[in-house]
Amino acid sequence: MLKAMESLAVDEVLAYVRCPQEWFWSERAQLSRPQTLGELRALALREALRLVYGGAARTLAEAFAHVWGEWARAWKSPELLRDLARYAEVRTAIQRAMTQERGRGRGFAQRLSASGLGSLPRDLDAFAQTHRLWDAGFGQLGSRLGDVFADCFVAVDQVARFDVPLPTPDQVVGIALPYTTDLGVNGVADLVWQEEDVEGATLEVHDLCGPDYVRVREAKIDLRVAAARLARPVDTSAPWAQVRREIYRNWVRGDSYAFSEVNYGNAQALLSAVRRGLQAQAFVPRALARPRDCLDCVYKSVCVDEGGWESQHLVDGGLLSRAEELRQVRATFRRAAQTAPAIAHQTLKELDGVLERLALGSADLGWIAAIRDEAQNGLDLIQAR
Ligand code: SF4
Repeated sequence: MLKAMESLAVDEVLAYVRCPQEWFWSERAQLSRPQTLGELRALALREALRLVYGGAARTLAEAFAHVWGEWARAWKSPELLRDLARYAEVRTAIQRAMTQERGRGRGFAQRLSASGLGSLPRDLDAFAQTHRLWDAGFGQLGSRLGDVFADCFVAVDQVARFDVPLPTPDQVVGIALPYTTDLGVNGVADLVWQEEDVEGATLEVHDLCGPDYVRVREAKIDLRVAAARLARPVDTSAPWAQVRREIYRNWVRGDSYAFSEVNYGNAQALLSAVRRGLQAQAFVPRALARPRDCLDCVYKSVCVDEGGWESQHLVDGGLLSRAEELRQVRATFRRAAQTAPAIAHQTLKELDGVLERLALGSADLGWIAAIRDEAQNGLDLIQAR
């Protein structure tokens, strides 16, 4: 049955799971989006592996330096590499000292300000923003662009920690190879390799950002891992046909897990829920349930700040207009409390009287309580300052 359905990209499914409204902006509205620093980090790893396995770099560290050097040239900023290296050196030294002191002594902020870096972290992030790179953490302590650079070299140190070693160059079939599946999803394998005299290929899923610690059972139900188990190459002339096992590698901590079986049931349940949601056009915005998650979303400005999700036809127009009326009550009381607090309080008392009289009639009691609450909220917003 799944075969008959139109195939979805794994990334698309994961976007819908994160927030259906995010899927809508990306896939349906096709809003352009800046490249995130998380994507840049993953791209750096992919390109560095390409250089190492292609024989253009002897080590992963050399490959990362080459990748960033190329980007600095493309961005026409020859000093960028020097500045990033300086930030990474300081960050590494601070983190090492803090680990040795086991949390005692000065915090990261104090050490960073005493490091002599001055405005360098801010300058690096300003550079990133002018080059259309995006991250939710711009403006916070340190440099997010500098962190991406430094994390690449942290990943280099993790290679020796992997329980499942990386393949040798002669075993590698390809990097970032697209695949399709009978599960109704298609994806891209980060690394595909083949051991001599062994039937079936090994497909790898890599993480260099996101959660730094992923347990085995979490990796096993990861949709990317489950999909890789059923992968078939899109290019039918590719030198691999079937999968023997998958490896999940977390380059933040140096964890690696090999699976020769995965949890299909979980993947099927996830996919059937997502498909049903897409078919029913259920685009419930995450902003309603977990507004804090929106802080990390690349569409926050258009979706929340500019009221984008509310202006779509995705929500019940009648109920939304009631929400708007309530907001106006709050805004009115807020303005009143700013200009004449005493009068606003008096008005609230009088409003109570009006609402009580309405409650004696046929008016909706829940609606009356909501109006009263919004009016009080308007006043509280000013008093909380
Ligand atoms: S801003 Fe929030 S609601 Fe809007 S797409 Fe992003 S996560 Fe979803």
